[in-house]
Amino acid sequence: MAKKRIYLSSPTMHGEEQEFVKEAFDTNWVAPLGPNVNAFEQEMAAYTGAAGASALSAGTAAIHMALKVLGIGKGDVVFVSSLTFAATCNPIVYENATPVFIDSDEDTWNMSPVALRKAFEKYPEAKAVILVHLYGNPAKLDEIVEICKEHNVPLIEDAAESLSSTYKGKQTGTFGKIGIYSFNGNKIITTSGGGMMVSQDPSLTQKATFLATQARDPARHYQHSQIGYNYRMSNVTAGIGRGQLLHLEEHKAIKKAIYQQYKEAFADIPEITMNPLNPDADANCWLSGMVIDRESPVTPDMVMDALDAENIESRPVWKPMHLQPVFAEYDFITEKGSKEDTPDIASVAEDVFNRGLCLPSDIKNTAEDMELIIGIIRKLFRG
Ligand SMILES: *Cc1c(COP(=O)(O)O)cnc(C)c1O
Repeated sequence: MAKKRIYLSSPTMHGEEQEFVKEAFDTNWVAPLGPNVNAFEQEMAAYTGAAGASALSAGTAAIHMALKVLGIGKGDVVFVSSLTFAATCNPIVYENATPVFIDSDEDTWNMSPVALRKAFEKYPEAKAVILVHLYGNPAKLDEIVEICKEHNVPLIEDAAESLSSTYKGKQTGTFGKIGIYSFNGNKIITTSGGGMMVSQDPSLTQKATFLATQARDPARHYQHSQIGYNYRMSNVTAGIGRGQLLHLEEHKAIKKAIYQQYKEAFADIPEITMNPLNPDADANCWLSGMVIDRESPVTPDMVMDALDAENIESRPVWKPMHLQPVFAEYDFITEKGSKEDTPDIASVAEDVFNRGLCLPSDIKNTAEDMELIIGIIRKLFRG
């Protein structure tokens, strides 16, 4: 018999999702929009503490709409975390704006406030900052928010991975002008696919909803004064989200316990360091990650291969955006300087990429699964 697959992070359904979806079918609200969409927005706003929410077709669409409602356009410089998934920065290019990538700090793996200050020295005309809370670990929000305030530049939080994480008691996604979440299949809660924009300024989320439903002017005869998008979440999808939201805190508790178990299991192996958690925050530990010491004969590829041989899924840390062929033309700023001045500049993001990997962090991992994973990794390091 084939070995059971152990996943990195797969959907975990509970049953209430089907109730909300059934309601959508029973009332024939299968078309886009409908009561689940409105309720999901209200429930997400209430959960996060945001004043407004707009349910969209994807996290990527939410980032795109964030840039639109902030008026970011052609040639505008946007600072963005380099160590992230491409969806964070692709929308900058959709708008013909110019991404400038910012390095991570070692303490959080997130945008370095020191590098961000350097970036503003070089590009004082920058129009927005997109900050990622990588793997659910909140960035240094006090510092980043302060720098954005000093420069009077809006902050967009890409909280796609960090829904339920708090920083000093407040939800990530609610510190910036706009926050976005993703409900993609592998996120902490999922709608199979979807996203949400939140803001303390409801006029911004209302604007996003307007643009995301084809930007139809309030007239009977299909009049348009702006270019619109078909980015709205469907009423069926939102039903899944409402059911999942009931279990978000429970998912977080399990993800945190997985992280703690790895941390304790590898505590006596000095070559292994777990991904850092911000001490000012309560991270959702969406994915547990580790980096391997430079001196160790064990590489991340060896760990991933050993797990793969037992049908266990793991994956590399995101390849930084400043190293991606498609973004090669754009500048990159570290705490030490810029790529334009020093083309082979060393970075924290690249170092984490080279030495790191993401461990199976599935909510449905059993005690036996965890033991198996830990045993395979310990054996590589301890023989
Ligand atoms: C998943 C993810 C996104 C994109 O969300 P989608 O819903 O898949 O479009 C954006 N940013 C980060 C950091 C993500 O992990």
